[in-house]
Amino acid sequence: MKHYGLYINGSWVTTKEKIDVLNKYTRKPFASTSVASGNHVNEAVEAAKQSYRQEWGPYDRYLIIKKAGELLLERKEQFAEILAKEVGKPYGECLGEVERSALTLEISSEEAKRIHGEGIPVESAPGSENCMSFTVRVPVGVVAAITPFNVPLNLVCHKVGPALAAGNSVILKPAEVTPIVALLLTEVFEDVGLPKGRLNLITGEGPVIGEALLANKDVNMFTFTGSPRVGEYIRQNAGLRKVALELGNNSATVVHHDTDIEKAANVIAGKSFANAGQVCISVQRIYVHEDVYEAFLGFLKDKTEKLKMGDPFDPETNIGPMIRLEEAERVEAWVKEAVEQGAQVEVGGTRDGVFYSPTILTNTHRDMKVCRQEVFGPVVSVETYKTEDEVIEVVNDSDYGLQAGLFTSDLRFAMKAARKIEVGGLIINDASAYRVDHMPYGGVKKSGTGKEGPRYAIEEMTEERIIVMNV
Ligand code: NAD
Repeated sequence: MKHYGLYINGSWVTTKEKIDVLNKYTRKPFASTSVASGNHVNEAVEAAKQSYRQEWGPYDRYLIIKKAGELLLERKEQFAEILAKEVGKPYGECLGEVERSALTLEISSEEAKRIHGEGIPVESAPGSENCMSFTVRVPVGVVAAITPFNVPLNLVCHKVGPALAAGNSVILKPAEVTPIVALLLTEVFEDVGLPKGRLNLITGEGPVIGEALLANKDVNMFTFTGSPRVGEYIRQNAGLRKVALELGNNSATVVHHDTDIEKAANVIAGKSFANAGQVCISVQRIYVHEDVYEAFLGFLKDKTEKLKMGDPFDPETNIGPMIRLEEAERVEAWVKEAVEQGAQVEVGGTRDGVFYSPTILTNTHRDMKVCRQEVFGPVVSVETYKTEDEVIEVVNDSDYGLQAGLFTSDLRFAMKAARKIEVGGLIINDASAYRVDHMPYGGVKKSGTGKEGPRYAIEEMTEERIIVMNV
């Protein structure tokens, strides 16, 4: 069983204490990681601080990040195999994640050459006639990047790529349960010659590492993707430092009466249950116009019943296990509670160990946990609506606001929804779960603050400095 160390200042450091990483399908450990102490965190921060003060120009940053993306692609089968083991999602989806991750690095590398400020017409102020002015964007310094379990390679690339492109140094803390691809990515950066100290990887317990990072004043910024609970904790303890938070959602998708109902049902079935529903923009609340409700539900049930759960390495498998037994049990308890409150199970609603079956609920109401909170499992609710205003109101009646979907052929309704639905992104004629890696991505309300997508993340990870020249 392979053991992986911490990566601090260009060296691998092994600790006595270890955390086993389980194959999520067989439930057997297949690798282990080291467990960092607060001292390791401080060493990594010091290395990062020294490193970002070294000269490292944009063109060199571009070359290294681009090479890392290319090498990642060369190693894609190795990465996909580890992803399928540690996350438990189907191998084909894992290959897709690796390819997207390489693209995220490629886009980040290109952005390294385009970081720019703007001219400021200070000469238009009386008394400043002799001045000229412009801004430059400078790196924030040491960026702490903390990532979740569900998309453990691409979400790491979305932080490491832009942070390095912007000229920062990084302390990367991947999720305990899926850390191996982040370790392999660190090896990729080592192999392409990343200057030492620019990327440091710390594995171990989230709360221990989080506390040490927050206590270390040389960390200049926190970029976090994960649960609202931990996101709020980081926000409250980061003081005046920059914080970017990509948090949860209970994504809604609306199906209007004027759309292709069968097509919408197919898309929604695919985007509700992928990765066992453990995706932050996974469809959770489905609102269907009452005129097409029965037809839509029929198509959705039909498609969902055909989904096959099983071994991530079996090409027939659509859905793998959930990440932990406790998560599958939590989803089971939420569905049970909804049923006790009057919900009806149309499809699924059963648990077999870590597998929770793709589940469609009807007769739900907005205050049930399965609607109000983030399920983060393969469960959707389907409700009807009569009017445009009514559905916009119910979509917005959420603590969250990451993305939403709307199927309609009515341009006027689409534009009204674009103005009124309170989210970071509204996807017209697709489900909420749509993302390409160069688009701005991030939520409002409890879904977080700050945007990702390399260009936008670079804005978060740099400061704008004004230069004024007086002759
Ligand atoms: P999590 O919050 O439990 O863990 C995320 C990371 O935080 C892990 O690396 C964990 O070790 C670390 N952590 C835990 N306690 C910490 C602490 N006290 N201080 C610092 N770090 C700590 O989330 P998860 O279960 O891995 O992921 C699921 C959540 O992530 C869901 O809510 C999902 O919506 C969200 N998510 C959001 C996006 C997005 O882009 N908005 C993408 C993927 C996942």
